[in-house]
Amino acid sequence: MPRIKQFPRLNYYFTRGIQELLAEGALTQGEWSTILAHFEHRCAFCGVADTGIPRTGLVADHLIPAIEHGELVVGNTVPACHDCNDLRGKIDWRIFLQDAFPHDAAPRIKHIEAYLGAFPYQRPSDPASRLTLAERTEYQRILQDWELLLTRARKLRRCNQTTQTNPRLTSSLRTTRGQRFTAARALPVSSNVERPWSRARR
Ligand SMILES: [Zn+2]
Repeated sequence: MPRIKQFPRLNYYFTRGIQELLAEGALTQGEWSTILAHFEHRCAFCGVADTGIPRTGLVADHLIPAIEHGELVVGNTVPACHDCNDLRGKIDWRIFLQDAFPHDAAPRIKHIEAYLGAFPYQRPSDPASRLTLAERTEYQRILQDWELLLTRARKLRRCNQTTQTNPRLTSSLRTTRGQRFTAARALPVSSNVERPWSRARR
């Protein structure tokens, strides 16, 4: 897939969504109970106890993120509280633990490593490898359709820039920021909204 330089947020959520859709239902209730038992019904990152309430309780978090083809299966899923799940995003779990909980990181990393030892997981090189031939074809079609939609959206953005923006301002932005000027950066974004595309570029 070519590198997307415009609408990174839109592309991130669509791609992540379609990958999570493919993995949906991969974890049974019994498997989730096994995972919860290994972590003593606590968040694998901060250690907070499960409330047992859907709105505030532990959720299944991918160790290898869905966007990197990690699946929601035993060996790649840990219980996480909503705060840790939101905060971590797709940051490497070891780095997240060291950054967010420096004093408790070592034993928690060991605990997760023991879990990985008990339930070894190998991510598929191709996210569509578990699909039937017909499902694979449909998956590829959806991705192709998505690429076409993105192309149309980019054209629309370029069109708006030339017709609605002061040409001198547009020219100046292009001169000072060159290729790095993107639609997402032109939009006002609240500082408390997670922007995984920004982290990915660092
Ligand atoms: Zn937590």
